[in-house]
Amino acid sequence: MSQARSINRQKRKQRRRIIGLVLCIIVCVLLFLLIFGVIRKDGPKPDQVTGLKADACYAQIELTWEPAKNASGYYIYASDDGHPQKVAEISGAENCKYTIDEYTYDREYQFQVSGYGYNRLTHRTNEGELSDKVTAIYEPDQHAQKIPVLAYHKVVPADETFSSSLLIADSTLEQQLTWLKDNGYKTLTMDEFYQWYKGKLEVPVKSCVYTFDDGFYGVYHLAYPIFKRLDMAGTAFCIGKNTEGPTAAFDPNEEKDHYIGYDVIEKSRKEYPKFSFESHTYDMHNRVNGKKPALSFSYDQIMKDCEANAKFGFRYLAYPWGAYSETMQKAVKDSGYRMAFSYGPYKYATRDDNQFAVNRIKISGKMGMDSFIRIVSGEDEAYDIGVD
Ligand SMILES: [Zn+2]
Repeated sequence: MSQARSINRQKRKQRRRIIGLVLCIIVCVLLFLLIFGVIRKDGPKPDQVTGLKADACYAQIELTWEPAKNASGYYIYASDDGHPQKVAEISGAENCKYTIDEYTYDREYQFQVSGYGYNRLTHRTNEGELSDKVTAIYEPDQHAQKIPVLAYHKVVPADETFSSSLLIADSTLEQQLTWLKDNGYKTLTMDEFYQWYKGKLEVPVKSCVYTFDDGFYGVYHLAYPIFKRLDMAGTAFCIGKNTEGPTAAFDPNEEKDHYIGYDVIEKSRKEYPKFSFESHTYDMHNRVNGKKPALSFSYDQIMKDCEANAKFGFRYLAYPWGAYSETMQKAVKDSGYRMAFSYGPYKYATRDDNQFAVNRIKISGKMGMDSFIRIVSGEDEAYDIGVD
């Protein structure tokens, strides 16, 4: 018995000795860390940030810079009164881009960026020197401030005689587009125009937008190939109800109206997305009891019409006859459309336009090239040929 007790006592003594030794080692390590400052060690100090650039759009600034050595992330400083304030922190050594929304274009902002190094063990950072200051200046004269959104309807073969100004010969359209291309004009896609309207994209002063109302099949058969060949952008506003069926083959002698079907819309969206297909409502282009539905329909009726069009993936809308009420605008907005276009009074579109009643300019198929040039070059917006 006494021998067993003595062995136990010895074991306990040994265990205590081991615990004591471990504690001693821990204390020594902590002392070592303290003495050499490891616990309080900051991250590595990054190099000064270089190559900072500030590109100003109407309502947005984009900052870019070169990656700095030893940086784990960056701090962004901004000021418009000489006192830089830290406005953002970005993690990631290679993330050298920062976008500032809600920018007021007529104020001059100055920016600086610094890198910070990060110590994973201590979670401490070390900030590098601030970069040189850059000033973001928006130059309105360098970019389009008003854009002609051109409105067309039916496209017909060149040899067809027609009296309505709403029709245009494919050869006249081609002549206009070729002139624009030869003279350095950019035709905008709907998305580009929308980004421009929002102040997030700048486009050349020589820019315009092509739109065709009603979705006549000549726009697909005759106009679309021209846009594709010349690498230009355009948009057809289709009446949903008419796009349900397949698109008929083009028949130049056919008197009856035919429309673009969803089959070619789907195909073209993949084949040539620069030409887009959007909404001219589902079924609000026929008068009901002698009235234009856009002016007489209730909010629920319009919402229902928009719902019927949802399957076609339209994101922009042109009001039939250009007619709209406040109810119509609200329903179109609530249905998720990005913007909507009016039709008359014929004015250039600006960023001050109502987002749900953007101005367009009617182009007559009988208009001469000189009138067309005056319109697209910004000289004559009020071209009203007096025919609707
Ligand atoms: Zn129409």
